[in-house]
Amino acid sequence: LLSTMMDVQLTVPTILERLRTLYREREVVSLLPDGKDAAGAPIARVHRSTYGEVAHRALQLASALSSLGVQPGDRVATLAVNSHRHLEAYLGVPSMGAVLHTVNIRLHPDQTCWILNHAEDRVLLIESAFVGMIPTIRAGCPKLEHIIVLGEASAEHALDADILDYETLIAGFSDDFVYPDIDERQAAAMCYTSGTTGNPKGVLYSHRSTVLHSLASAPKDALNVGERDVVMAIVPMFHVNAWGLPYTCAMAGAAQVFCGMFSDGKAIARMLEQEKVTITAGVPTIWMGLLAELDRAQQAGQPYDLSSLETLVVGGSAAPESLIRAFQTRHHLTLRHAWGMTETHPIGTVSNMPPGVELTSDEGFALQAKQGRQVPLIELALLSDDGERLPHDGQTMGRLMIRGPWVTASYHGGVGQDNFVTLGGKLWFDTGDIATLDARGYMHIQDRSKDLIKSGGEWISSVDLENALMAHPAVAQAAVIAIDDPKWDERPLAVLVLRPGAERPSSSELHEFLVPKFAKWWLPDAYEVVESIPIGATGKFLKRELRDQFRGYTAA
Ligand code: ADP
Repeated sequence: LLSTMMDVQLTVPTILERLRTLYREREVVSLLPDGKDAAGAPIARVHRSTYGEVAHRALQLASALSSLGVQPGDRVATLAVNSHRHLEAYLGVPSMGAVLHTVNIRLHPDQTCWILNHAEDRVLLIESAFVGMIPTIRAGCPKLEHIIVLGEASAEHALDADILDYETLIAGFSDDFVYPDIDERQAAAMCYTSGTTGNPKGVLYSHRSTVLHSLASAPKDALNVGERDVVMAIVPMFHVNAWGLPYTCAMAGAAQVFCGMFSDGKAIARMLEQEKVTITAGVPTIWMGLLAELDRAQQAGQPYDLSSLETLVVGGSAAPESLIRAFQTRHHLTLRHAWGMTETHPIGTVSNMPPGVELTSDEGFALQAKQGRQVPLIELALLSDDGERLPHDGQTMGRLMIRGPWVTASYHGGVGQDNFVTLGGKLWFDTGDIATLDARGYMHIQDRSKDLIKSGGEWISSVDLENALMAHPAVAQAAVIAIDDPKWDERPLAVLVLRPGAERPSSSELHEFLVPKFAKWWLPDAYEVVESIPIGATGKFLKRELRDQFRGYTAA
């Protein structure tokens, strides 16, 4: 028997219309790089806008793109930083039925062109700071028809008749854009995996998945976003749609703050304080920089006033328990783990405190160091290498499988079919992560399957060792990688970056430091100190590069 309910399509225009009706006055603040100080030198400038203005301009953009011949289903790429203009594209492009393809700004130009070509992008919105890339992109992407520059037009590109200036372009249109009929299963946005484990693969998010993901990320036990919040996503808008936050906030009416090209501890701390941000989100390396700045300011007797700040969402890679404890005990700030990937839109799990567990107890900290529980509508499972279901006992490591309405069922172009399995008639996505699940459902990432160290047929979690090493007072960063071993196949090598001014601890001191926490055979065979660990475009350690660097290494 069919229900009597209306069949309303879940589409991005519903989010845009909600902004126009309910949240017109809510602020959208961007830190732009185009200010000038008294002497004319470039400095950051705060730009203030509102959802009303953003919605108006998003509709102008939709009309402008239509006038350029952009059709539903066409791909419109962005090479842009976090700003109100990028948010306008987030809303305007899908609302005309086109697909917003956010491209990572930190890739090698060859890879950028590869991705633009693979997605068959027709239009590119490019930040004015990156106009220097235009000749390379032009040469490498012959199918790209229009290039639109976001930001002030400079004389240099204003001369080129083919290049459009965003502000001039949209100024020529009103906001009376008429939405086309959009099927909720059509693509709204597109992202490529960052390729830390192979060639980038394209994932297409639907209107439906975007709306459902926004609804599932907002509740209290997820990211806790409401109208009274001021949210600053430091995670780039090209990195899995800034974890969906631009849409989640728009849906909930939360104000948004964008910090553009600025991601150092000082700029972030200032924006958090000045804009009275309540929720912010970023990868662990961002929070390490912020912690250093907060410590410095506190020691100098001029602490920042971050009393409005409630939550720092951390994801992208594992946050060490020592980092979580340092924020909580020294600055009364709570880090909240979230886990996901490009293929999952991305929110899969978020950590929360169950009833009866004190946030600042040992149990609470141990739980916060896990990646949390699945948000509603997401299912998780653990499989052995033979495809058998494994117990949820908090001990047994297995391949983490996921399914849900915002988990991709394939990749653009049909590549990567090995990542999908059917179990009991249901399709699951194999995340490539190795995890444990405990009896309460808390998931704990142990490793990427490619980074896992396989010693004598048993698995060693590089993430666990890294997190323990980063609690040592002399260690700023730690990456543990597998080195070949004739007897055990692979053994762990710890690669360390020391804190400024710290003395190099001896290998035996580090060894003793780890002994209470791990089985003996888990302990690294050697500890190497380096100047820096290679970090990829989304702020994660590039272990593949590190493994290349230490290929053939033998412990002394
Ligand atoms: P890529 O797969 O190219 O690195 P993604 O941004 O899609 O790009 O990364 C997803 C991966 O990041 C996950 O599979 C997982 O290994 C890791 N990850 C994401 N969030 C967390 C987290 N909170 N803790 C540990 N690892 C995480």
